[in-house]
Amino acid sequence: AFRPTTLPHVGHSQPFIEATVIAPGTARASNSGDDQSVWSSVIGFEAQFKITDVITDKLETKHIYAQQMIGEIPIVNAVGNLNVGSHGEILSGYHRFVKNWKGVTMLNEPRSIVEALRVVQEFTSSSPPLIARNSELSFMRDSDGNLREVWHFSAVENHPTPPGGFHPGHPGHEEEPMVAKYNHYWQCCVDAYSLQIVVVEDLIHRVHDPFQYKVFPPPMMNPDDGPQILAEELFNWGSRFGWHGLGANYVTEKTQGNNVIATNNDETVFAHVSDSGVYEFTYDPLLDPEDQLDFCLTQLFFSNNWLHDVFYQLGFDEESGNFQDINYNRGGEGSDPVTALCHADGSNNAAMLTLPDGTPPVMFMYIWDIVSPRKDSALDFGVVTHEYTHGVSTRLTGGASYVWCLFGWQSGGMGEGWGDFFALAFHFKPTDNRMMSYGLGGYLVNNAAGVRRYPYTSDVTLNPTTWLDSEKDEYGGVHAMGTIWCIMLFEAYWNLVDRFGFDEDLLFGNGGNNLMLELIVEGMKYQPCDPTFVQARNEIMQALKFRVIWDDRALEAGYLVWAGFASRGLGVMASEGVADFTVPDDPFEFLGEGKITPASAITPQGEAPTTSSKSSPGTQSDFAIELVLIFIGVGCALLIIVQLIRSRNSNSTENPFEFELMRSVDARTPLKAAQNPYHDSNAIVVIK
Ligand SMILES: [Zn+2]
Repeated sequence: AFRPTTLPHVGHSQPFIEATVIAPGTARASNSGDDQSVWSSVIGFEAQFKITDVITDKLETKHIYAQQMIGEIPIVNAVGNLNVGSHGEILSGYHRFVKNWKGVTMLNEPRSIVEALRVVQEFTSSSPPLIARNSELSFMRDSDGNLREVWHFSAVENHPTPPGGFHPGHPGHEEEPMVAKYNHYWQCCVDAYSLQIVVVEDLIHRVHDPFQYKVFPPPMMNPDDGPQILAEELFNWGSRFGWHGLGANYVTEKTQGNNVIATNNDETVFAHVSDSGVYEFTYDPLLDPEDQLDFCLTQLFFSNNWLHDVFYQLGFDEESGNFQDINYNRGGEGSDPVTALCHADGSNNAAMLTLPDGTPPVMFMYIWDIVSPRKDSALDFGVVTHEYTHGVSTRLTGGASYVWCLFGWQSGGMGEGWGDFFALAFHFKPTDNRMMSYGLGGYLVNNAAGVRRYPYTSDVTLNPTTWLDSEKDEYGGVHAMGTIWCIMLFEAYWNLVDRFGFDEDLLFGNGGNNLMLELIVEGMKYQPCDPTFVQARNEIMQALKFRVIWDDRALEAGYLVWAGFASRGLGVMASEGVADFTVPDDPFEFLGEGKITPASAITPQGEAPTTSSKSSPGTQSDFAIELVLIFIGVGCALLIIVQLIRSRNSNSTENPFEFELMRSVDARTPLKAAQNPYHDSNAIVVIK
């Protein structure tokens, strides 16, 4: 009579036996509700029970809840409730008490809870290991009315958490319940002798079955890594009602959801399901991008949602200023899903406009026409990741409502470097290693080496970049500077992977790769507005130092991360213009007590003021004008900026193979004065 319930995607199954209605009666309950004779008379037989709750409402009505027991052992779901008037009269009630309980006793030597948990682990195929909570040996009634002994417990994913149970990437989020990290929260009953599964129920509700998309998902970076496959939405806690759920009760069937609106340049076209719950549009490498808009929208919707969920797990959540329409009362400002444009008006580039929390960012993915057939930047997951990461770093540095912290020569360079780094890191495979070469944007130019000066690799004969290069003229632009930052992160990352392993699970994994990704996102929250390389490195180390109390790996990781930075010249004594390749004796010694003084302590030559002389002419005025535009009014300014961006990109005559590829347009990239569209008086006219 016992069958395991299937794993529900939608709501709950209800394996329990229906409640019996208790008729209103003349029996009077006491204040405690603990009256054997009253319960016996209303349920019609004798039973042992304990009162679990008594609630009195404003009208003096009492709600009394009871759990049936056999001695000290509860019977799962055998509960009753009485609604009692102010004079003790029974108004109504229900019960699921079991009548034939007498004579039932516990058998000897049940199997252990560990064995029961193992069965559930296998049954759910949960990739994080599960732990059991609130486990209790109980009786449970089967559909024939017989009682059997079960382990009754909650099985939850065991994520690395510090003592106290809060995610380390959320400083100040001590109120956040641990459940926020769970994909599933299984309620389980497992036969205590046969270990047969009786019930496995996911307490986390799903609005709909997972949608499927025929795309090039990670670790594929672009169509060159094919073939195109059907992939499911991730469904982590960050997308509580799925990628298509807008709140609990509304599910879209087009490429518009809570995290992203994938549409065309006019924002009028969406991809719609090709079949129920499926977006299946086949990519044809010989066709022009404009002839396969549905696939572009599907891939761009998938990639943005995937990035939302993975960055959410890394700490870019509602309170940190992430991109969501509805924030589910978890802090931050809503109404700002990414508007991601396929075939945006422009060419040979990609861009991200990030505005303060609560105002939607816009991702511009252009068609590339320097190859034939033309290529679609929206299909290159690495390029999309680069742009999305601009949004993450901009919102996290200096606070979500302040988006002008990554303008400087160094900070703007790191903005590009983070983008390149995450684009690489989200697409590594178990077979990859640090001595291999990795390019970005290779799909768009038919050259796997990509669009940067050097491929990313630890092989210094192929990529000799160090902090010394920052002094060279050709590193005066933010994208070139970004390659220096990225190769430092790359070295630190691989130091951790080589020591602590590579975990393919980017949501819940515990490998060296997961650790480095978390540290980088945490560091963004700690660092100052307009950070220098040294400050950003220090805040990554600070994030690691916080882990010492709960993560066994932290001290060793400290040396490894330092070694990564030092190998590319950002060692202990590095400062602006000074490279250093040494690692400190104590990885955390240089961090000191505070957050600001350590930088000067490590840089005896003196850290440059926040704005470097390397900034291109016109940076400051661009900055000021953009500020003015923003404050004129968000709606108006957004319109203007979008128009400026579009005209800027469509008029671009720069060599896309050099440093300006994938420029971010959220006002971080210094413009050459002669090209500065903000100097066009027509822009002022539009404001009126
Ligand atoms: Zn960029």
